[in-house]
Amino acid sequence: METLVALCKRRGFIFQSSEIYGGINGFFDYGPLGAELKKNIRDCWWDDMVRRRDDIVGIETSIIMHPKVWEASGHVAGFTDPLVDCKASKQRYRADQLFFSPVVVDGNTIGYVSALESERTAEALQEAAETLKRKKAVQGKLEPVQLRDMTEAKAEEIALVPSPATGEPGSLTAPRSFNMMFQTNVGAMTDASSVAYLRPETAQGMFADFKNVVDTGRVKLPFGIAQIGKSFRNEITPRNFIFRSREFEQMEMEYFIHEDADWAACHRQWINWCKDWLLSIGLPASHLSEFDHPKEKLAFYSRGTTDIMFRYPFGVQELWGIAARGAYDLGQHEKASGVPQVIFDEATKKRFIPHVIEPAVGVDRIFLAILCAGYAEEEVTDDKGNVEKRTVLRLSPRIAPVKVAVFPLLKNKPELVARAQALHKKLQRRYAVFYDESGAIGRRYRRQDEIGTPWCVTIDFETIEKDGSFTLRERDSMQQRRIQEPELMALLDEQVY
Ligand code: ATP
Repeated sequence: METLVALCKRRGFIFQSSEIYGGINGFFDYGPLGAELKKNIRDCWWDDMVRRRDDIVGIETSIIMHPKVWEASGHVAGFTDPLVDCKASKQRYRADQLFFSPVVVDGNTIGYVSALESERTAEALQEAAETLKRKKAVQGKLEPVQLRDMTEAKAEEIALVPSPATGEPGSLTAPRSFNMMFQTNVGAMTDASSVAYLRPETAQGMFADFKNVVDTGRVKLPFGIAQIGKSFRNEITPRNFIFRSREFEQMEMEYFIHEDADWAACHRQWINWCKDWLLSIGLPASHLSEFDHPKEKLAFYSRGTTDIMFRYPFGVQELWGIAARGAYDLGQHEKASGVPQVIFDEATKKRFIPHVIEPAVGVDRIFLAILCAGYAEEEVTDDKGNVEKRTVLRLSPRIAPVKVAVFPLLKNKPELVARAQALHKKLQRRYAVFYDESGAIGRRYRRQDEIGTPWCVTIDFETIEKDGSFTLRERDSMQQRRIQEPELMALLDEQVY
């Protein structure tokens, strides 16, 4: 992760927000290459999800909505994470991410240890238990630690668990609910009547506008409403770079189906669609898996939720959640607003609230997955036999920030420069391209490898003196071949879609 974070900063993918003021935790800026890559992720999703389907329409709703939306949706009462305070250090932890265990020697509890969730929580707790045993100079057999998180701690245990900040027990509080919605005030008055929230998800925009979309007459069941936009959550512990931040972007789609439809089959279809889509933008199948939420942990209205998980360097984590939500959301809005949220079924002459399947994913999490899966360091041998390191981002042409880099072989030969610039201008009309004339060709290739550019073309003397062909160099194989302009255009047309 450290190498990736450094690359992101060095090459202008991602910066810490407000860095000149020391940064602000949980907020990030996307630099020139990051903004391109992110836009490509959004555009691919929008094209495949909305434009290339006849059953899904796209909308764009406001970030601040009527506060009643969030009462009806359950967010005001229930969009909470369990929070534990450390009174000594003033640090705050998510109770379900703070693990502890009694330290038991020969059947006697000699104390407690704690550790924050990581890919090696159990090992960290075991090591801490061994250290405690040594510190207390207790003889006997140390039993294996038994992991529990702070939401499972008994009242009498809380005072005995050491704070991760100080290493001492006695300063942690019992878990309490912390609402993650950011509050603001709308208008000149700052009182209870002006309270509003920054949306914590884009989904409610689709539910609140359901009737408007249906009444404008473009849709028939089953159909979907999709949206891409910013969401905000006051996460207690933003972490793992852009994986969990406080301002992020979501791509969500609500797929409305008949109340009698086979929801499980539809749910499965969407899980498959999402997986295929991730493969289409270059994520390797080897890093993807599925996790079915256990029935007992589902919200009462939920019929099933499956997450597509991705193997990040810090562990296997949720990338995309696909939830079967029944008629809950529209039903809640019907009750709260008094406006019927129904569809008329011509076949049965019945009115009913449609059910919904919701695939919800974060753009930033996809961005991070792409970088993690694509990053490689390799040893390569140049023409002179020297071995050197190359850093390469193996990004799919669909989402690579730069599609083609155009080089004149030499910058002091006006005819080469003119031809290269003309090709660059032509390509620029359709693609993100980069012109580079400085340094040896090998160095120019390396600079493009590091940012994931799939192809480089070099204009040389053969181009202008012979048949107009130029060298095409491929990022992954590093192979070079001569190619004519129409062939390059056809290659781009096929691979960048
Ligand atoms: P988590 O359990 O990781 O907090 P969640 O189950 O609360 O996520 P959802 O409410 O289902 O997430 O949101 C849908 C998607 O939005 C997630 O799958 C994820 O890709 C993205 N997402 C949610 N929270 C964040 C965040 N704080 N930062 C970045 N992306 C997020």
